[in-house]
Amino acid sequence: MFEVNENYLKLPGSYLFSTIGKKVSGYSRKNPDRKIIRLGIGDVTRPLVPAIIEAMHEAVDEMGKAKTFHGYAPDLGYGFLREEIAKKDYQARGCDISADEIFVSDGAKSDCGNIQEIFSGGCRIAVCDPVYPVYVDSNAMAGRCGDYDEARGLWSNVIYMPCTAENGFVPEIPDERPDLIYLCVPNNPTGTALTRQQLKVWVDYANDIGAVILYDAAYEAYIADEDVPHSIFEIEGARTCAIEFRSFSKNAGFTGVRLGFTVIPKDLKSGDVEVHGLWARRHGTKFNGAPYIVQRAAMAVYSDEGRAQLREQVAYYMNNARVIYEGLKAAGYQVYGGVNAPYIWMKVPGGMSSWEFFDWLLETANVVGTPGSGFGPSGEGYFRLTAFGTYESTVEAVGRLKKG
Ligand code: PLP
Repeated sequence: MFEVNENYLKLPGSYLFSTIGKKVSGYSRKNPDRKIIRLGIGDVTRPLVPAIIEAMHEAVDEMGKAKTFHGYAPDLGYGFLREEIAKKDYQARGCDISADEIFVSDGAKSDCGNIQEIFSGGCRIAVCDPVYPVYVDSNAMAGRCGDYDEARGLWSNVIYMPCTAENGFVPEIPDERPDLIYLCVPNNPTGTALTRQQLKVWVDYANDIGAVILYDAAYEAYIADEDVPHSIFEIEGARTCAIEFRSFSKNAGFTGVRLGFTVIPKDLKSGDVEVHGLWARRHGTKFNGAPYIVQRAAMAVYSDEGRAQLREQVAYYMNNARVIYEGLKAAGYQVYGGVNAPYIWMKVPGGMSSWEFFDWLLETANVVGTPGSGFGPSGEGYFRLTAFGTYESTVEAVGRLKKG
């Protein structure tokens, strides 16, 4: 008789957003006349900008002619895009990153979920708490997290680094020694970021103890503060200890189009083994390249026209973030984030739990957010609202919250 991977059986309940989905559809079925505003899931709502659509159309036309048709894309990405990324995202910021250190993929979720495969099963992970759940879950599937304590919401073999209002949402160097350190900056869900100085502490620490920082910069485009770096490779020493994940989902609205990339410097080594080579091998074996049409579309993200249009799109969402932040603050809530990320992280009022507040908000204001406890035990007592809605629905949701 075959046996399944038992690690999957240890995973807690269903994924956060399916629980939310079930609660919301249950409520809608009972109250069909209520207009629900969804500020829960971090999906974008603005359409693709004209420069991207134009680039896509051109690529579609190329695919319709024998002479310009493209079959399988190179596993690691087309040279034209890797060069453009290296130049505009890295070299222009003074980062020493070359095109062959960039691996194009179908998105950051796949990469930050899969990266753990190239490290030994004995590696110990450290995560910020709360954080994007994919890091812990993907390691739990690989058997690296030990056992799950349902009551406390903790895995026995994970090093949690609490990020709460008390420490300004800045993770502290843990007492125990990790091998893989996940940092998500700007952070989902807290919407907070690390300054250059704060990140340098982590780079020095990782180099000191021989750990790898897995740096998820999916929200890089939303950074507004001058002292927040856009890439970990802006920090001296990062080439020997860091891997960076980027996504086109939130800077260009590619959540349904799918594209991302991972940067692995050739100086990142375990003994004399280059991690770069392992990821290239994995990519070549398990991934058949991102679509030509999509990689062409991504080129428009870097054109002058595309950049200008996307700046406006980011500004649209960040205006929503401001509306939520200021509205809730004026109503007396304790709010965080919303400056370098499209997420507002609020303290749940009146001693309610995160899920109690979710239910209360759904029923009294018909607004959907995300309970903080879904992102880790230190998220309990907090709640996430996203700025990815329309301006009109954001204003209406804040108005309802104020009344509530
Ligand atoms: N990383 C973080 C922190 C995210 O919040 C998300 C999506 O919400 C992703 C990665 C996924 O990005 P992608 O759409 O490129 O898979």
